[in-house]
Amino acid sequence: MKPFNELLRPNIRNLKPYSSARDEYSGAAAVFLDANENPFNAPYNRYPDPYQRELKKRIAEIKKVAAENIFLGNGSDEAIDIVIRAFCEPGTDNVVSIAPTYGMYQVAADINNIKVTKVLLTDDFELDTDSLLGATDEHTKIIFLCSPNNPTGNCFRQEDIKKVLDGFEGIVVLDEAYIDFAPEKSWLKKLTQYPNLVVLQTFSKAWGMAGIRLGMAFAQSNIINVFSKIKYPYNVNVLTQQKALELLKENDKMQQWVHELLEERTRLIENLKTKDFVQKVFPTDANFVLLKTPEPKKIYNYLVNRKIIIRDRSNVALCEGCLRITVGTPEENRELIDALAEL
Ligand code: PMP
Repeated sequence: MKPFNELLRPNIRNLKPYSSARDEYSGAAAVFLDANENPFNAPYNRYPDPYQRELKKRIAEIKKVAAENIFLGNGSDEAIDIVIRAFCEPGTDNVVSIAPTYGMYQVAADINNIKVTKVLLTDDFELDTDSLLGATDEHTKIIFLCSPNNPTGNCFRQEDIKKVLDGFEGIVVLDEAYIDFAPEKSWLKKLTQYPNLVVLQTFSKAWGMAGIRLGMAFAQSNIINVFSKIKYPYNVNVLTQQKALELLKENDKMQQWVHELLEERTRLIENLKTKDFVQKVFPTDANFVLLKTPEPKKIYNYLVNRKIIIRDRSNVALCEGCLRITVGTPEENRELIDALAEL
C-alpha cells in the first residue's frame, strides 16, 4: 500500500473537523447549556452522541472487532460517499469498479467528479483480477468490489479478492451488504492483515432495518478516524441509535429470518427452473435470485399488472435478459409463483 498520507486528499489530510458541543463535553452532567438545544420536549430535544459509543460497543461485540475499527453511517451508502471524498481528488483521481455491480459506486463517484473505470466480470460472473489490476493507474485510489455481488448474487473466490488486495496500492472497498446470507466468511477477521481494506456491511438486509438507515464501514483505525472527521457530526440520529440497540438484541430472530429466507430461496429457484420462459437461474449467495429469460420486459410488465414488482436488470452489462427477484415471505413468494403459473 502507498503511504496513507499520500493516498488521502491533501485537504482531508489537513482538515480540522468541526468541534460540536458534545465533542467538547460528553460526560454525565445535570445541566446541559452548551448546545443551544430546546431544554423542553424530552426525550428528543438533545443531539445524539456524535461518536455513537453505546451502539458501536454493541456492534463491536456482535462483529468481534474493536470499536475503533467501526464507522457508522446513514446506510452504507454514506460510507461509499465518504470513502470517495476521503481519497479521491475531484477531476484528477479515479476509481475502478467491477461491472455489473451495485449502482451507487458510480453515482457517488459522479457526484464527486471522479472517473470510474469499469471492468467486466467474466462470463460466469467471477473477478477478472488481471484486468482489474491492469485498469488502475497512478491516480486510481479505490477499487470497489461487492461480494456477494449485486445483481449477480455470487460471492467471489477468496483467492481472487486476495489477489486484488495484495496487488493494488490503494484502497479496496469490499461491500458485504449480503454477507449474512452467504456461506462464505466475511473478510472482517482479516482487517489487521490488510491496511488497505475497507469492508462495508449494513443493517438493511438480513437484520431487517432498511427503514432506520444504518450502515457500517470497518477498517484499520487510521481510515476510520478520517471517515469520522469527514462525516456530519450527528450523522446517525437518536431514533436510529436507540432503535438499533433495541433490535440488535434480537440476534436469534435475524438468524431465523436468514434460515427461512434461504429455504424459501431454494423453493423459489426450484419452481423458476421448471418454467419454459426461464433459460437460466444463476447461482446465488444472497437474498435474491437472478434469472435469464428471452422476454424480460414482458414478464416484468405482466407482474407489475399483478402488483408484483421485481427488478428488470436486462439493460445491465452481462445481464442481457435478466430479472432480479428478491426472496419475500412465503406468502409473497407463493403469490409470485401463482402469478407466473398463469403467464
Ligand atoms: N451495497 C449493496 C451491494 C446494496 O445492494 C445496497 C442496497 N441495495 C447497499 C450497499 C446500500 O445499503 P444501505 O441501505 O446500507 O445504504
